[in-house]
Amino acid sequence: MNNISNNLNLSRKKNKNHKSIIKVGNVNFGKDFIIIAGPCSVESQESTLKTAQEVKKYGANILRGGAFKPRSSPYDFQGLGFEGIKILSQAGKEVNLPVISEILDPRDIEKVIDFIDIIQIGSRNMQNYSLLKEAGKIKKPILLKRGMSATINEWLNSAEYILSEGNPNVILCERGVRTFETYTRNTLDLSVVPAIHEISHLPIIVDPSHGTGRLSLIEPMSLAAVAAGTDGLMIEVHINPSQALCDAKQALKCDDFSSLANKVIKLRKYFDINNA
Ligand code: PEP
Ligand code: MN
Repeated sequence: MNNISNNLNLSRKKNKNHKSIIKVGNVNFGKDFIIIAGPCSVESQESTLKTAQEVKKYGANILRGGAFKPRSSPYDFQGLGFEGIKILSQAGKEVNLPVISEILDPRDIEKVIDFIDIIQIGSRNMQNYSLLKEAGKIKKPILLKRGMSATINEWLNSAEYILSEGNPNVILCERGVRTFETYTRNTLDLSVVPAIHEISHLPIIVDPSHGTGRLSLIEPMSLAAVAAGTDGLMIEVHINPSQALCDAKQALKCDDFSSLANKVIKLRKYFDINNA
């Protein structure tokens, strides 16, 4: 791609078959198809464990749950903080799934490092260079979400901040970009999946929950992401969506997550992706 800057050395592919494999628990990003699922935010021990059991049953490989929530309004639920990290970690252990959670403050990395398996850097922090540099100083996998108005070049430059500090374990996540469209919460840019595969060796997954913000669109866009070659999906699931404290409108019921996961498996078989 001509407009990609030349100094993206570490995030660029060295040859056609160059692809990074990032191991988390007993799954490998870039090799296995990964489904991350769970609530937008950790709300209680009971609901987190129940959700963990359900998503595991239906095929999730990794449990998600936000404890430090980057809410647009300071008056909205901000997450349970470190208490939420502990609840998530415990739920993950009980169902034997690795866990992922978002960190907002570079000083929290050290505090959570033994409790979570992947550190998420959210869209709003994609260009928080202090956070990126701290994330580069550890070896724990980092899920780097695309900034809501970031170009591919800017996104890979952010990955480069982490890689150049010495952490090779970066997973990219497309979560939609902001456009003039208002029907959807964001415009899910699925063209970045093959584009990233063309220029970078880093695994890329797709988050159609934040990418569309609409329940009815999550399953079709998950299938479209599979067709585009995504290495995985991140889906928000809640045991009782109408009661969710965060992103209730885009939270799938467990049954709907089950249907989505089944269709994803069938579609991957149909395409014979990685001998699915
Ligand atoms: C999230 O995944 O919980 C989240 C806040 O997503 P994003 O950073 O993509 O808005
Ligand atoms: Mn959310």
